[in-house]
Amino acid sequence: MKTKITSKELVAPVFNIQRFCIHDGPGIRTTVFLKGCNLACYWCHNPESRQAEPQLMFYTDRCLGCAACVAVCRTGARRKDGSRIVFSPEVCQSCFACVAACPTGALERCGQQMTVAEVFEEVVRDKPFYETSGGGVTVSGGEPLLYPDFVRSLFLCLKQEKITTAIETAGAVSWKNIKTVLPVTDLFLYDLKSAGEKLFRKATGGQLHLVLENLTELLDARTRLIIRIPVVPGFNDSPSQRDLMVKLLKKLPGRFAVEPLKYHQMAQGKYRALSLPAPRQEISARQAEAAYRETVAAFRKAGLPVLSV
Ligand code: SF4
Ligand code: SF4
Repeated sequence: MKTKITSKELVAPVFNIQRFCIHDGPGIRTTVFLKGCNLACYWCHNPESRQAEPQLMFYTDRCLGCAACVAVCRTGARRKDGSRIVFSPEVCQSCFACVAACPTGALERCGQQMTVAEVFEEVVRDKPFYETSGGGVTVSGGEPLLYPDFVRSLFLCLKQEKITTAIETAGAVSWKNIKTVLPVTDLFLYDLKSAGEKLFRKATGGQLHLVLENLTELLDARTRLIIRIPVVPGFNDSPSQRDLMVKLLKKLPGRFAVEPLKYHQMAQGKYRALSLPAPRQEISARQAEAAYRETVAAFRKAGLPVLSV
């Protein structure tokens, strides 16, 4: 006889549960990062979130060359080449035997299936911090709305504990997915990466019209919402792109705040650990800062309700 899966037994791939976050909504928050994304932004700060399946991450700077991983790897994905340890991701079968064998933490497993009950148990521990700071739990990714039933079920559990909820989404999903979580979500942190359809498609592989249709629906439903704009030098920081964005934001219905996000290069090590090519474009911290400041100033000048650091 088949046993019915209860909502607390629903699973989703989780790659991180980060406590004491202060940038993913109000107060002190725990952010649950779900793995898997339907966009491919070339500047992505979380490359480990793109693929839903678990992945091996190899931090070469922590490797002592002891070859314990080579001894347990049955596929030859890890081998010795002189004094160097090399990794061939194309033959890795993600058994993670090497992770257990590594004495230095140079190898890490990224991503595991967790049930709603397991995630809830972990995030509820910080309830006192949420209460004293006005914080709560944020679900991010990847794209968390690829797992709407999981998120809804987790948020229902949190609501029973009077813990507030937020979702960080790029909005490039079916409205049905958003509708599933709408009644149990206190705040949407909604990414808007570009105001031009062509540019959006080129940089992310997604469809801007879908993002905008969902955004309009959410605003019409009087959802509490912050529009977050990653300011990427060379992509959306030119005066013409900025003007286009201002025009688009001013046309939107309802109430919202706008939060430009500063570009940073901190993901470089994660690209290396995943054996992925890092974003081609070299962007200095000074360029990123200037683009961010100019965007904040332009949005303020246009009378938009800007949140900034
Ligand atoms: S995860 Fe398994 S197959 Fe992949 S490198 Fe490690 S031991 Fe080899
Ligand atoms: S087991 Fe760890 S430290 Fe030893 S060679 Fe492999 S990755 Fe390096």
